[in-house]
Amino acid sequence: HIAVLGSTNMDLVAYVAKAPQRGETVTGREFRTLPGGKGANQAVAAARAGADAVSMIGAVGADAFGTQLRTALDHSGVDTDLLRTVDTAATGTAHIVVDDEGGNAIVVIPGANATLTALAPGDEGLITSADTLLLQLEIPVEGVLAAAQAARRHGVRTILTPAPAQPLPPELLAATDLLVPNEHEAATLTGLTDPRSAARSLLSQVPEVVVTLGARGSLYAARGAEPVMVEAPHVTAVDTTGAGDTFVGTLAVALAEGGSVPEALAWASSAAALSVQRPGASASMPYRSEIDTQTNG
Ligand code: ADP
Repeated sequence: HIAVLGSTNMDLVAYVAKAPQRGETVTGREFRTLPGGKGANQAVAAARAGADAVSMIGAVGADAFGTQLRTALDHSGVDTDLLRTVDTAATGTAHIVVDDEGGNAIVVIPGANATLTALAPGDEGLITSADTLLLQLEIPVEGVLAAAQAARRHGVRTILTPAPAQPLPPELLAATDLLVPNEHEAATLTGLTDPRSAARSLLSQVPEVVVTLGARGSLYAARGAEPVMVEAPHVTAVDTTGAGDTFVGTLAVALAEGGSVPEALAWASSAAALSVQRPGASASMPYRSEIDTQTNG
């Protein structure tokens, strides 16, 4: 059973040849609304990877996006009993402009996600009953910390994706079992741009680290062991949005099932490689059978 506490957003994506400058208006090619938010993305990834149960703790507004996001999670097999609907804020949105070179510019408006500053009744009970708690930083850090400490008190494994990149309170790292930054986030946390050096430095605060390195794969480091480099499959990427969330959600499932770390990392790399070959964040996430086929060649 995997619990996720985090953000639920609607991604509002405009596709244009070239992004507008200030004061300029351009005509775009296409508009799409896509379910997003790192929390919801990780929940969908874990559900598709075949977790026996996945529960999402989060918040949406009392509006149409909130209803659509709840329905999308339900359809993915994610339990939304603890996804609250608040009437004090709108559903979180990400306003994304994607240009023809694949570059993007994004404004995130947290909305209802900003209300997640503390655990609500029922949250701690759910976290306590889970094998693993997945956390990211698109909600207030106080809420993330409260959940991590509840998990720690009950021996539940905590996996933290420290994104968006920001300095972290030491108490949060102290309640984290596995930290999964990308290269940029690892550099923000440590001031070190070399991933091996950053991973080594982070091991003074957390027992296990995976630094994801995009197409170059990932680097696993644990206290008292040599770091291990995991290659990513060579694929043609069309949209890398959500690659990191696919990686973490799948990794959590493999570890919760008792898989070894090398097996879990290979499986997560397969899943992430599949996701980058298709457009969308959660829409591109692979199902268990596809991940198995990719892994076993
Ligand atoms: P994020 O999406 O959080 O920025 P990364 O870009 O590091 O994270 O990607 C996460 C993981 O997704 C990588 O460790 C790798 O396994 C996989 N991945 C990302 N981009 C590619 C790619 N172009 N080809 C194959 N795998 C990829």
